[in-house]
Amino acid sequence: MSVRVVARIRPLLDKELDKDTIVRAESGGDGKTMNIVRIPNPKNEAEEFSFSFNGVYDMDTTQEELFTNEVAPHLKSLFQGLDVTIFAYGVTGTGKTHTMRGGLKLAERGVIPRLLSGIYRRGKKITKDSGGETEVTVTLSYYEIYNDKVYDLFEPPDKRSLAGLPLREKDGKTVVVGLSERACDDLKDFERLYIEANNNRSTAGTKLNAQSSRSHAILMVKVIQTNGDETLISTASAIDLAGSEDNRRTENNKERLVESASINKSLFVLSSCIDAIGRGDKRIPYRESKMTRILSLGQNNGITIMILNLAPLRSYHLDTLSSLNVSSRAKRI
Ligand code: ADP
Ligand code: MG
Repeated sequence: MSVRVVARIRPLLDKELDKDTIVRAESGGDGKTMNIVRIPNPKNEAEEFSFSFNGVYDMDTTQEELFTNEVAPHLKSLFQGLDVTIFAYGVTGTGKTHTMRGGLKLAERGVIPRLLSGIYRRGKKITKDSGGETEVTVTLSYYEIYNDKVYDLFEPPDKRSLAGLPLREKDGKTVVVGLSERACDDLKDFERLYIEANNNRSTAGTKLNAQSSRSHAILMVKVIQTNGDETLISTASAIDLAGSEDNRRTENNKERLVESASINKSLFVLSSCIDAIGRGDKRIPYRESKMTRILSLGQNNGITIMILNLAPLRSYHLDTLSSLNVSSRAKRI
């Protein structure tokens, strides 16, 4: 199991151009690659905190650069049978959805559509190189976890049980019972299914009284390679996590507290798992939350990439600092 934790600082939006920025990216020594984030101490601005990452992407980073550097290199491993898991972590408004889903224009497409495009391209090549003997098929599952319950995003909200889908152990793996899996033969199929499911997400939010920033959205792309009676299956997962801001400070009605407790717990378990994997520990506490259980995080030989999204603005100061503090392996130096 290998893990990489990188930070991405989003640019200022048009309406923010006159605002004060406090987050800086720096190169930690070799003068080339950026790997340090600096931020003032909110209690004493003369002092600065520094955090080190496996990589830092500054405001001017394009969607293509991020994908090419952090995701594309793992496509080969995916087709060799390893699972690849990519998380976007951070405060609401810092660019998680932009990073994972992105915009409609080609250049603005995020990690997810680029991942699918890379998978189809590589799949076609493998089939061609094998003289047509190896067949590659792709299926999608897409669900959200809200208040520790699993909801299928391919199910229209009015058909969904509020209790969520149950988990069960099967051959040493955790499966979501009743989760749909859609065949997805090309990028056109993907775009149609992805838009349909994302629409279910926002409507589900109204019914469940959840905003999308309060739930984790998990897309699982299964790659199935068959050659005669041999089958190789691997999964790429892309996760747009719930916002990591501390809701207790802003609102404390009962519903919010329930949401907040379950978000805090699952993000804490996630960062503990990533820490443990990074340290090479034998025991990874992946059973302690539904999300890490379903992803069997740390159980198989896979690759995990965590992208910490940051907004450079002063108005995010405390939340940014706390996301830097909890995001695994972002060590204060
Ligand atoms: P989150 O999902 O973390 O709440 P969003 O992805 O919705 O945040 O981003 C907040 C706003 O910032 C959106 O308007 C988004 O388009 C914009 N944004 C985020 N990252 C970038 C980026 N790298 N380049 C341009 N705009 C960005
Ligand atoms: Mg979002």
